Amino acid sequence: MVKVRFAPSPTGYLHLGGARTAIFNWLFARHNGGRFILRIEDTDKSRSTEESIREILEAMEWLGLDWDEGPYRQTERLDIYRREAQRLLDEGKAYYCYCTTEELEERRKKALEEGRMPKYDGRCRERTEPREGVDPVIRLKVSQEGETEIHDLIKGEVVYPNSQLDDFILVRSDGTPTYNFVVVVDDALMGITHVIRGDDHLNNTPKQIQLYRALGYEPPQFAHVPMILGPDRTRLSKRHGATSVLAYREEGYLPEALFNFLVRLGWSHGDQEIFSKEELIQHFSLENVGRSPAVYNPDKLLWLNAHYIKTGDNGRLAKLLIPFLMREGLVKEAQQPDLEWLCRVVETLKERAKTLKEMAQMAAFYFQAPQEYDPKGERKFLKSQILPYLEALVSELDKLNDFSERSVEEAFNRVMERFDVKLKHLAQPCRVALTGKTVSPGIFEIISVMGKEEAISRLKRAIEHIKSKSDT
Ligand code: GLU
Repeated sequence: MVKVRFAPSPTGYLHLGGARTAIFNWLFARHNGGRFILRIEDTDKSRSTEESIREILEAMEWLGLDWDEGPYRQTERLDIYRREAQRLLDEGKAYYCYCTTEELEERRKKALEEGRMPKYDGRCRERTEPREGVDPVIRLKVSQEGETEIHDLIKGEVVYPNSQLDDFILVRSDGTPTYNFVVVVDDALMGITHVIRGDDHLNNTPKQIQLYRALGYEPPQFAHVPMILGPDRTRLSKRHGATSVLAYREEGYLPEALFNFLVRLGWSHGDQEIFSKEELIQHFSLENVGRSPAVYNPDKLLWLNAHYIKTGDNGRLAKLLIPFLMREGLVKEAQQPDLEWLCRVVETLKERAKTLKEMAQMAAFYFQAPQEYDPKGERKFLKSQILPYLEALVSELDKLNDFSERSVEEAFNRVMERFDVKLKHLAQPCRVALTGKTVSPGIFEIISVMGKEEAISRLKRAIEHIKSKSDT
């Protein structure tokens, strides 16, 4: 059975690259009916934080990446690593090294000066006596003969000459185990069948393969996913804008949009761009992960988000919109806006809003009467000639019992007929009067959604405004 894991180090937030790795693992598990494990790699205590763990879990939940086991935490498994290190020592496959940092540094410098590749020379391999006052590290005896072949499921055959390797450290002098050590112990003991991770770890793989062999475990299959590059083709980083998953939530992206976007950064299925989760589970395979790095394109993410907003369920969008309305100061913390009404608001805006944040900004006019009118719009449309139309419209709207879009439209028609004017002569002044702006969703819908009282009050205010101007 397929068993994969996502193994973040909690030293910061979940960034796009990490999220994509998690998604690929999750899809691989779901496609193959396997298991997806979450393992927190927190052995580096100086850099790991609880805050980061919370953040990572929250981001995964938001993306809908549910795990079947875990979260395991490596700091809760230290006994296991100690036992495995001891076993390697007992079997003569690992040894204590008493070389000090200063000595190692000196040798490193010398090697560089002499044009040699700096690496540990193995001088403590044969050492039998401890060295007074030095806390030793534990190193693996690494074979430096021959080569290590990786049959990578994405990169193909990768061959490393073992002469490039050295006896790397398994346990530091303070007793904490290193990444390369614990990752192998855990992947082996947890029965991981496929290690799918970023190709920044490809260089670690030959070391890890040697360690599997030393421990007597079968290495899993490896799949190293190429990096994500920024638009300038350098490795994606903060310089390119938000890289934290939750920052995208704050910016008003939908999780399915980011999910879809991240999958397509490196994986393809013909030229299809939009995928439901079910389709992704059905089609996902490592064969279709590209060998070259993918380039992050924020416009495409925006386009996908617009698509998912346009086709999204109004009730869900309305609920998701509330925090954004709060942030815009349109809804108060304690106040729960009427959801049914908010659904109608959403319906009028979803065609155009690319993010929930933008939707909240576009929705402002529903919550607040215009403080001022767009100057150009005011000059062009709020003129004394239109006073009779606006007054007639107020009286027609006032007569309506049913304030549906349809009835509003009929009220408009009656006014247009009476004065023999076209819709645009009436709609634009109304739009400015009601929203303060010259662009908005359809005039009948917004009036209907705004409601009778509010619409009439705003129109009356515009009438007063026009009158006061012509008086002076
Ligand atoms: N903790 C490692 C990282 O976050 C995991 C690497 C791996 O998947 O082996 O990069």
